[in-house]
Formats: sequence, structure tokens, C-alpha cells
Amino acid sequence: MTPIRIAVVGLGKIARDQHLPAIASNDDFQFVAVVDPAASDVEGVPCFGGLDALFRDGPAVDAVVLCTPPQVRYALAREALKNNIHVFLEKPPGATLAEVAALAQRADASGLTLFAGWHSRYAAGVEPARAWLAGRKVESVSIRWREDVRVWHPGQEWIWEAGGLGVFDPGINALSIATYILPRAFILRSATLSIPANRAAPIAADLQFIDGDGVPMSMDLDWRQTGPQSWDIVVETDQGRLTLAKGGAVLTLPGQDVGGEDREYAGMYSRFASLIRSRSSDVDTAPLRLVADAFLLGRRETAEAFYWVG
Ligand code: NAP
Repeated sequence: MTPIRIAVVGLGKIARDQHLPAIASNDDFQFVAVVDPAASDVEGVPCFGGLDALFRDGPAVDAVVLCTPPQVRYALAREALKNNIHVFLEKPPGATLAEVAALAQRADASGLTLFAGWHSRYAAGVEPARAWLAGRKVESVSIRWREDVRVWHPGQEWIWEAGGLGVFDPGINALSIATYILPRAFILRSATLSIPANRAAPIAADLQFIDGDGVPMSMDLDWRQTGPQSWDIVVETDQGRLTLAKGGAVLTLPGQDVGGEDREYAGMYSRFASLIRSRSSDVDTAPLRLVADAFLLGRRETAEAFYWVG
């Protein structure tokens, strides 16, 4: 089959760490261009300062993957779709829900693929966790997602701006797993967002959810954790405890550890290729909806000012 010619837009941390290797190891794709205002050519692949320059002066492309901060995602996706290009959105798929709905509508109307990639859903333990939970009664869910922002997002200022999500940037990964593995939908009941005095987005959050049967789900997010990091989801059921640790990579079920291969980005590129070949889209906004609800319902409290050094 003819490879899908793809351009990587936003050559930052995640593009370099994950997207470039995943594209290189997938025969369905041919990496043909980079778009980034500040980057330069990558191993002979040309770099353009904007999508307009790519479409005007660059090689032909069939698809783009948008690895920019979320605040600029909509304008880029819209321009790509207008130019008949399939679009893969890094998480979160946009800065607002309305943006994503507008993009999905445009993709549908044009017969193009729009893919909202939730990488944590492809972690090794997630699919078996979903299968195990399908036959069980959930009694409670507890999410603890605590990491050190200085280690994982060094110097990224956009993450502290409106639309950058703050601690929900990693927290939405937990919600992408929870909304996928849990048999029933949860709704937010209350939230507290701790926002540093000198920033626009939260550094920590405490959330309480409930499902239609009154089953509780708690979520503890914190970006100030040094030392060992916590990316854990614990589900108590009528048939014992399920634990997903290390961001979904390690699944423990009663009496057994379930191993698996890390295929987060490889899995997303296989999915993107099959969506393009079948001319369909996959745009699940459930994780972003819960984050939006936290910003709608959350009580704000002011936390100590945050500086990268200090
Ligand atoms: P990053 O390191 O700041 O990279 C973003 C890149 O996009 C930068 O090179 C930036 O250039 C560029 N950019 C900004 N505006 C652009 C535009 N209009 N057109 C083209 N390029 C533009 O951020 P990141 O950590 O890679 O995160 C990017 C996205 O991936 C976020 O939505 C994040 O949630 C998601 N993600 C990140 C990780 C992770 O571990 N870092 C994991 C999974 C998903 P400048 O720096 O010059 O502005």
C-alpha cells in the first residue's frame, strides 16, 4: 500500500521522544516534513515555519500530526482540514470542547480523518483492565497522579497559561484511562483547584466524582511531587481489587500480575493508519469534558507562587 506522507507539526519534547520514532518504525507512514517556527531540518527532512509555507513550498502531504501546545491546535487543524489533509491531534485534542466539535464536523463533511489520540489508553495494562472490569461491579475508584513538573515539563511556559491545563495536562491521561476502562460514566460532584499566585493554571487539584449508582471516584493530582512518582488507578470491585500503576503500564488483578508490551505511540499510529484507510474518525472528548467540568465547577484556592528554579 502507498505510504501515508506525514508532516510533524510542533517539534518539541513529545514529537522528538515519541512521534518521530513511532513514525520511523511504521511502514504505513513516510515522514516528509516538519513544521515549527523555531526548529530546523531533521535528518534531511525539511522544516517549515508554518503550515502555509509547507502547503506552498513543501512536499505533498496526506496527513499531519499536531504536537504543539493545545492553545494553537484548532487553527492548525482547521487549516490542515481545509487543505484536504488528515489530522492526528496529540492530547488534549483542543483548548475547548467547541473547537474539537467544530473540527470533527469539518472532517466528517470533507470525508477526512480526525484522530484524537489518547496515548495512555494504549498502555499495556489498559485493554486487559477494561476486559476484566466489564464483568464486575465497581465499588469505588481512586486515582492518584502525582509528578514533578520540573522533571516532566522543564521550562514549558504554555502549560501554565490559560488553555494549558496545568496539572490536568498529565491528569487528563488518568481520565483517558478511567473513561475507557470503567463500565459506567462518572460525573463530577466537587473539585478544588490550587493555582499558584503567579500562574493561570492549577498546580494541584482534588476531585470527587460519582456514577449513576452512587459509586464514588476520587482523584488526587499534584505537580509538586519529588522522589518516586505516582500514576496509579485503584478500582475496588465485588470480586477484588484492580490496580493500574505506572500510567497504565502495570496491571495487578487478584492473584495475578498481567504483563504486556508498551505500544502507546506505536498503537496510536496503527490506529491512525487504519482510520485513514477506512476514511473514518475517532474523536472521543470524554476526558476533556471532565477536565472542562473541573474548571466549571472547581473552587479556586491560591497556592504558593511557582518558579522553575527554587
Ligand atoms: P513542547 O516541548 O513545548 O513542544 C511544543 C512544540 O510546538 C515547540 O517546539 C513549539 O515551539 C512548537 N509550536 C508552538 N506553536 C507552534 C505552531 N503554531 N506551529 C508549529 N509549532 C509550534 O511541548 P510537548 O511536551 O512536546 O507537548 C506538546 C503536546 O503534547 C501537549 O499537548 C502535551 O500535552 C502533549 N504530550 C506531551 C507529553 C510529554 O511527555 N511532554 C506526553 C504526551 C503528550 P516553541 O517552543 O518555539 O514555542
